[in-house]
Amino acid sequence: MIRPAELIERKRDGDELAAYELEELVLGYAAGSVPDEQMAAFCMAVYFRGLTPSERFALTDAMIRSGETIDLAALDRVVVDKHSTGGVGDKTSIALGPVVAACGVPFAKMSGRGLGHTGGTLDKLESIPGFRVEVDADHFVRQVAEVGMALVGQTDGLVPGDRLLYALRDVTATVDEISLIAASIVSKKVAAGADAILLDVKVGDGAFMKTREDARRLAGAMLELGARFGRRIVCELTGMEQPLGRAVGNAIEVREAIATLRGEGPPDLSELVLRSAATLLALSDLDLGEAEGRQLAEAAVSSGRALDAYERWIRAQGGDPTEAALPAAPIVRPVPSPASGTVAAIGATGIGRAAMRLGAGRARKTDTIDHATGVVCLAKVGETVDAGEPLAEVHARDEASLEAAIAEVTACYRLVDGDVRPPALVLEVMS
Ligand code: URA
Repeated sequence: MIRPAELIERKRDGDELAAYELEELVLGYAAGSVPDEQMAAFCMAVYFRGLTPSERFALTDAMIRSGETIDLAALDRVVVDKHSTGGVGDKTSIALGPVVAACGVPFAKMSGRGLGHTGGTLDKLESIPGFRVEVDADHFVRQVAEVGMALVGQTDGLVPGDRLLYALRDVTATVDEISLIAASIVSKKVAAGADAILLDVKVGDGAFMKTREDARRLAGAMLELGARFGRRIVCELTGMEQPLGRAVGNAIEVREAIATLRGEGPPDLSELVLRSAATLLALSDLDLGEAEGRQLAEAAVSSGRALDAYERWIRAQGGDPTEAALPAAPIVRPVPSPASGTVAAIGATGIGRAAMRLGAGRARKTDTIDHATGVVCLAKVGETVDAGEPLAEVHARDEASLEAAIAEVTACYRLVDGDVRPPALVLEVMS
């Protein structure tokens, strides 16, 4: 039997822990025999000392073994999945899943909720009337087999070790440690069953990883874990210096994902969806390269098959796929530009916070979400505006929150004279 206090002390002093010690610690925590205060102290020791690759693997393995795992072998196909480390305006998965499914590749994803300034895919999907995010593991597998895709909430039994640990890290300033993030993400992806996984590591103002160097280290840690668990992982490092696409909210992001499936989405989001689809198709069992994958993905959008796949998926989970069914905010007001110029920067964190305060996100886990509200960034980096022209649009529930959001959004924009090149979208791909 391990003594948690001794493990904390050894980790604090920079020792390497054995696999069985980490396993007992994590399983003990998931079972309730290791208390929060000891696990919090352990996370803080890891925050300062890091984990070796062997420790990281042992921690991830223990988290996977703390709960059930999904077996997708019955599908007899290479099943693909995608995960983002979290950003502002990131609705990629809602468009990507249907594009990939329309190309004949099974897409199976379990997703999370948003916290703080970053949105969560489940919250966005719940703006669709009737849509069920909570389905059991059998339903999840059956739906992927029958409909070609499922995007659902993580089942309660899946990696409870991570669920508990993530909540603890969230309140003890230990979220942004590379080994802990890598173990958290990869444990969930391995347990959810897919064979090939695209991990979108966001870099910049609106992301956990503020620098490219840190993003590279996180990607490297996740690639190594993927190889040890026998999963094919590709990491794309993508910029989060401004929101992705234009919409930041819930229903307004679903609308933008639908527009993207129609071929009418904002350029950055459309490009990321098609690029990510090409990567996933190249990882699949279709036996094609990325260039062919890209052509297939483009054809799925232009032919309307991707939109059909979206409608089939939403109906399979009880939702109404028509755009008219999505909730709309009672007040929609432009944010006028205080001056003429070119947009040089849009603080992604600030826009995310403004949307959250409009009700589109939650500051605490228990907060409820207003699915109709949010911010639409009409002008993006590199685009020019005249004084008085709208920089953005605020979708609000009432006048008080509207006025506060207009001030916040205005403060997020930085305008300059002259040309500004839009920031790179995909910075690097690591595999
Ligand atoms: N996303 C996760 O799933 N886990 C982390 O630790 C950070 C981001």
